[in-house]
Amino acid sequence: MDLASDLADIVGERLSCSSAELYCYSCDASQVRGRPEYVVRPKDRDEVSRIMALAFEKRVPVTPRGAGTGLAGGAVPLKGGIVLDLSSMDRILEIDCSCRQVLVEPGVVRDRLNLALLPSGLFFPPDPGSSAMCSIGGLLANNGSGMHCVKYGTTRDYALDLEIVLADGSVIHTGSQVLKSSAGYDLTRLFIGSEGTLGVITAARLSVVPLPKARRLVLAAFRSPEEAGLAVNRVLSAGIVPAACEILDRTTVEVLHRCDPHLALPTADLILFEADGEPTAVLDEAARIEEVCLQSAISIDTASEAAEMEEVWAARRLVGAAVSRLDPKKTRIYVGEDVGVPVGMMHVLIRRVQEISEDAGIPAMKYGHIGDGNLHVALFVDLSDEAEVERAKLAAHRIHLAALDLGGTVSAEHGVGRARSSYMRLQWGGALDVMRAIKRALDPRGILNPGKLDLGSGTDCDTADAGAGL
Ligand SMILES: Cc1cc2nc3c(=O)[nH]c(=O)nc-3n(C[C@H](O)[C@H](O)[C@H](O)COP(=O)(O)OP(=O)(O)OC[C@H]3O[C@@H](n4cnc5c(N)ncnc54)[C@H](O)[C@@H]3O)c2cc1C
Repeated sequence: MDLASDLADIVGERLSCSSAELYCYSCDASQVRGRPEYVVRPKDRDEVSRIMALAFEKRVPVTPRGAGTGLAGGAVPLKGGIVLDLSSMDRILEIDCSCRQVLVEPGVVRDRLNLALLPSGLFFPPDPGSSAMCSIGGLLANNGSGMHCVKYGTTRDYALDLEIVLADGSVIHTGSQVLKSSAGYDLTRLFIGSEGTLGVITAARLSVVPLPKARRLVLAAFRSPEEAGLAVNRVLSAGIVPAACEILDRTTVEVLHRCDPHLALPTADLILFEADGEPTAVLDEAARIEEVCLQSAISIDTASEAAEMEEVWAARRLVGAAVSRLDPKKTRIYVGEDVGVPVGMMHVLIRRVQEISEDAGIPAMKYGHIGDGNLHVALFVDLSDEAEVERAKLAAHRIHLAALDLGGTVSAEHGVGRARSSYMRLQWGGALDVMRAIKRALDPRGILNPGKLDLGSGTDCDTADAGAGL
């Protein structure tokens, strides 16, 4: 029997081999491209296990996929083979209010989980701009985060136990329902951020927290993004831990105004602070943030009405899409877009990125999660202009080097995938060899998501170099 009929035996009509469908699965939200030969949509753990056992036996590459919103090519099948689309495994299996835990399948979309939690007064804090689309499995596999991790941490801080199907189809649990355990290695953290290269997450037990009773926004406008960065340093040094702390540089605000001219945001370099918690504590924290920012801000506004705050957050979420308004001839490319540095170094990183963009003659929008040291840089190019594309690639390379030079990382939340795999050695040195040894131990035939994270050498499916796209 050929592989297609073996797969059809497991998933029936939830197997696709038509070229139109394969085309749809040959990209994510990045510029990385790679075409699968089969797409399967398992409905439960047992089907995933049978698919993996088959792929292991036949040495066929398998690329797990959630919602395909990744920005580094993580879910793109660089070596063909099978795309394992987990979006149909989307049941919320349990909400346990007394233990403040949920048990979910990997395809649950992040916002749907929080909608289901609303009546219990609980929420799952990791809050990416893609929260209406991305899956919990994708968030775990990338250790995604987003807008509220200054105070609440990243996805890894909420994972208690993962059910994992390993490369050969066997199933393990990495944790349990207990909040504390000092028994053995922390396998949960090993699988978080492994981007589908070590195993397939088929269920996750997550901790969730009570919704804050009150929230307040402080919107501070500055003369330059560097001044904005320094103000953030002063706020954090004053012992204030805002729930969110986001930067939108002047170009970003201008672009947002083009999308919505009625948007009530001053045209300047802005920091959005959010305070949340008990009502009196929130008022006090917001007042302290204002007091610190007044030293250098040109204006400060506050908002506490839900509708007013939602308008600002909706605008913030729009940034990724709004960038197209900068210049209709140019396209935003996802390279150098997710660097992270120690928070106190953000103003230096912002200055360096500005210099790099000016040197290259490539416009760059700067926005992101400044309170946790994560800057998103949107570089714009005319894709038909080869020289401009080359200059942009060089600019992105310099941005990555600047982040590493400042003690940072080439990806703070979007992951490495294929787009940043060439930086793994530079960032990790000898630790990359430890990662490769772990990869070989757990996936000896190299069938899981080959071509990613520079883990490949020596494994069956992962030999030739693959195109990074751009
Ligand atoms: C407009 C926009 C805004 C964004 N904003 C943010 C942001 O603020 N913060 C942030 O962190 N990210 C952001 N992202 C990036 C993206 O949404 C995240 O990386 C998200 O975690 C990807 O989830 P997904 O379900 O789409 O995963 P996919 O793109 O499908 O996959 C991502 C990786 O996870 C692996 N994977 C997926 N599911 C599983 C599984 N069940 N088991 C094992 N491996 C699996 C894949 O192989 C791949 O390597 C944004 C993206 C867009 C398009």
